[in-house]
Amino acid sequence: MKIDKSIFHPDYKPEPYWWEAARPGTDHTTDLPANTEIFIVGSGYSGLSAALELAREGRDVTVVDALAFGEGASSRNGGGVSAGINLGKGISGGPGQANRSEDHKKIVESLLGESLAAYEFIQTLVERESIECHFERRGRFVGAYSKAHLPDLVKKAEFLNRVLQLDASVISREEQRAEIGSDFYYGGLVINRAGKLHPTLFHKGMLDACHRAGVTLCAHTKVAAINGAHNNFTIKTSGGNCHAEHVIIATNGYTGALTPKLRNRLVPIASQIIVTEELPEDLAHELIPNGRTISETPRITSYYRLLPGDRRVMYGGRARFHEVPAEVSAALLHTMMTDRWPQLKGTRITHSWSGLVAMTKDALPHMGQEDGLHYCTGCNGSGVAMMTYLGRQVALRILQNGRSDSAYEALEFPGIPVPFYRGKPWFLPIVGEYYRYLDRRERNASDG
Ligand SMILES: Cc1cc2nc3c(=O)[nH]c(=O)nc-3n(C[C@H](O)[C@H](O)[C@H](O)COP(=O)(O)OP(=O)(O)OC[C@H]3O[C@@H](n4cnc5c(N)ncnc54)[C@H](O)[C@@H]3O)c2cc1C
Repeated sequence: MKIDKSIFHPDYKPEPYWWEAARPGTDHTTDLPANTEIFIVGSGYSGLSAALELAREGRDVTVVDALAFGEGASSRNGGGVSAGINLGKGISGGPGQANRSEDHKKIVESLLGESLAAYEFIQTLVERESIECHFERRGRFVGAYSKAHLPDLVKKAEFLNRVLQLDASVISREEQRAEIGSDFYYGGLVINRAGKLHPTLFHKGMLDACHRAGVTLCAHTKVAAINGAHNNFTIKTSGGNCHAEHVIIATNGYTGALTPKLRNRLVPIASQIIVTEELPEDLAHELIPNGRTISETPRITSYYRLLPGDRRVMYGGRARFHEVPAEVSAALLHTMMTDRWPQLKGTRITHSWSGLVAMTKDALPHMGQEDGLHYCTGCNGSGVAMMTYLGRQVALRILQNGRSDSAYEALEFPGIPVPFYRGKPWFLPIVGEYYRYLDRRERNASDG
């Protein structure tokens, strides 16, 4: 692919913009202890959230990460904080979704109830731990990518208001410039109960809170094997061995050979982001007048927002489902961004990066216990609120001697229906091309 170099700012960096404010590092790291009560693999939002809850209850907790603290998706995401609208897809008639049974609707309703609790939990955490992370509850706009998607959004608004009181409404194409400086969409859904934050400042706040609460933190400590059973685990790591009563797996999109049964039920997918140079104030305001986060209805979706300060745009999406060089995804995302906002054609990119999310067959996150190991996983691209919440739920499960009040625990966790699948998603480029074709076809039909 030929890349137009003029889209890159002279100060362009192929790494997350968020790292300018807080780079994943080793602050608070220490040597691995020989013994701990609860051992957590993964220092993203879910691992730290579990650790914080347990340590606040006086438990002895150790968190390790193969990389720097938070270097997985928790320092790479878009910072959109949503109350579960992705979970509503299956029931509220999102594009490509079949009608589901009444039983299924009931289950989804209780899952959605918890996803609203997850959204509210972020506010609680930010306030309780005094985390300075630009958390703003400014709502969300979901653009209809084709004409046929707008009635789906009307159903979704009704559903979200009935089940979650999300304060959602649908606006027409003629009205949408009140939300986005673009005519690209065929109208869209406005959800007032949604927000955004600065991902690495949020993560740093949680890491500091864990340190204050007495959690032992070990960066650059890769877990190679976990042997034994409940109450008597031996964990082999690059920093030595550790014995523990409980183990929590909090590795989401970075789940590997350590836990093959989990890995085989997850598809790691790359998500990519670009950030623009600073824009004139009036142009930035015209792009997203109410400071909402933006997403849209196709299978291959984009998510975007203004950064703190409201002068730069962050544009994210699945430019490719698999990891590609940062400059390639940057060029693809720049084209997608200027398709939506032609007024940004001459605007240059200062940062681009990618990270991995974990998809599941049923598009839902899961928590539970497998071979004695506790886990939460499967963010399906939307885990700032949800994985933080589920980390806490896993902790509560341990504190309550295995009893969980979460509906996510009761879900069956289906495998990926691809013969001999072992966590290497060779089929993603094919699926990506097929989805792109279907999305294009639906959009083209809008003008027919
Ligand atoms: C580009 C991008 C954009 C996103 N945008 C949004 C958004 O706007 N809103 C939203 O809600 N969600 C978003 N997400 C999803 C969100 O970031 C994730 O759901 C969330 O960060 C998952 O947190 P986690 O703690 O479960 O996993 P992670 O933060 O990915 O942490 C997993 C950790 O496990 C560690 N690990 C793995 N194996 C081992 C091992 N063997 N030994 C030791 N450590 C190990 C990894 O090094 C990693 O640090 C986005 C994700 C990406 C990648």
